[in-house]
Amino acid sequence: MRTTLVLLLCACGSAPVRPAPSEIACETDNGLLVLNPVPIGWCDEVQGVEDRIFQAFRTLGEVDERFKSSMARTRGWKVVVKDAAIWDDGNGSFALGQTDCPNRTIILNNNRPASNVLGHEMAHAVQQCVPALPWDLDGGIQTYYHSNWAPIYAALQKQNLRP
Ligand SMILES: [Zn+2]
Repeated sequence: MRTTLVLLLCACGSAPVRPAPSEIACETDNGLLVLNPVPIGWCDEVQGVEDRIFQAFRTLGEVDERFKSSMARTRGWKVVVKDAAIWDDGNGSFALGQTDCPNRTIILNNNRPASNVLGHEMAHAVQQCVPALPWDLDGGIQTYYHSNWAPIYAALQKQNLRP
C-alpha cells in the first residue's frame, strides 16, 4: 500500500513533458494535445466538440467546484485516438475511452470527435479521477469513478455529446 502511494505522488509531482512537435497532430484552443496518428478529418472536428464540452462543464460548478476551473485542469492533457472501436480495458470489461490521470492522457476510440466519449473522459480529467463525495463504494471500481455523475451525464447530453 505504501509503495503505491509513493508511486502516485511521484507521478503527480513530476512536470508534464510536452510531446515533440512531430508527435502532435493538432492542439485545441484550450491546449489539448491530440497525438498522431489520428483519422483523417478528426482534428478539423475536435474544436467544435471541445467548445461544447466546456459549455457543459460551465453548468457543473455547483455540483463539483472543480468544474469551475475545468479549462485550467485539462490544459496540456494528451489525447490518443486508438485504431479500434472498443478494447479490453484490462479490468474485465470493454472500453470506448479511458483516462490515465497520472499521465494526463485521454484514450479514445476511433469514432468521430462528435460521437466519441471525449467529454466523459475530460470530466474524469477535471476530477483527477477522484469523484465528488459521497463516493458510491457498493458497485466496484467503475461505479466509484462515476459517483455523483448524474448531473455530468445530463450536462453532456444537453450539448448532444455522448455521456
Ligand atoms: Zn468514466
